[in-house]
Amino acid sequence: MGDRYRLRRPARERHVMLQLAEIFYTLQGEGAYTGTPAVFVRLAGCNLACDFCDTDYALKFVASVDDVVRKVREEGGGCPMVLITGGEPFAQAETLALIAALRADGRRVHVESNGTIPVELPDDVWLTVSPKERLSPSMARRADEAKLIVDGRVPHEWVASFDAPIFLQPEGNKPENVALAVEAAKADPRRFRLSLQTHKFIGIR
Ligand code: SF4
Repeated sequence: MGDRYRLRRPARERHVMLQLAEIFYTLQGEGAYTGTPAVFVRLAGCNLACDFCDTDYALKFVASVDDVVRKVREEGGGCPMVLITGGEPFAQAETLALIAALRADGRRVHVESNGTIPVELPDDVWLTVSPKERLSPSMARRADEAKLIVDGRVPHEWVASFDAPIFLQPEGNKPENVALAVEAAKADPRRFRLSLQTHKFIGIR
């Protein structure tokens, strides 16, 4: 499928360039797909500058869409799941071409976004929205899951924006944040689930 598609795809799409931070194969540690093997494609850059951000999304290299698809194959072989994250993936308009190419290569594409930049996505793309500020209503509606960071408080102000399941994720897996998230989930079991950063427990990326 991938080879046939490569022959058909327009040259301009194959040569679209992306700014990247890293590509690596691991397990998804958070949310509904916790424990699922996935190739992570971390794009460089973000349109926000959150005080608490601990993600290194600095530009490390530039690659074409085809190069990224090839690297995903090298890292993950036949792994079905690819997670595009950042930074903010939709800060680069070229991300939509990457999603198209990965889907054509037979991958199940997941994207993690801060939900500030509205985009149209195919129905089979799994969208995780973790709001920080300026949440786009259309991205909140499109989300398959929401991830709210619990850091000294549960950010209840975002809850009404989402119909999708909401995962409460304690910042840094700190016991006081875990306790707050557990308490909130028990108090509102129809809206909340707990998401721990399980990769940190077992020392993988
Ligand atoms: S939106 Fe996410 S990646 Fe961007 S600065 Fe905030 S925490 Fe960091």
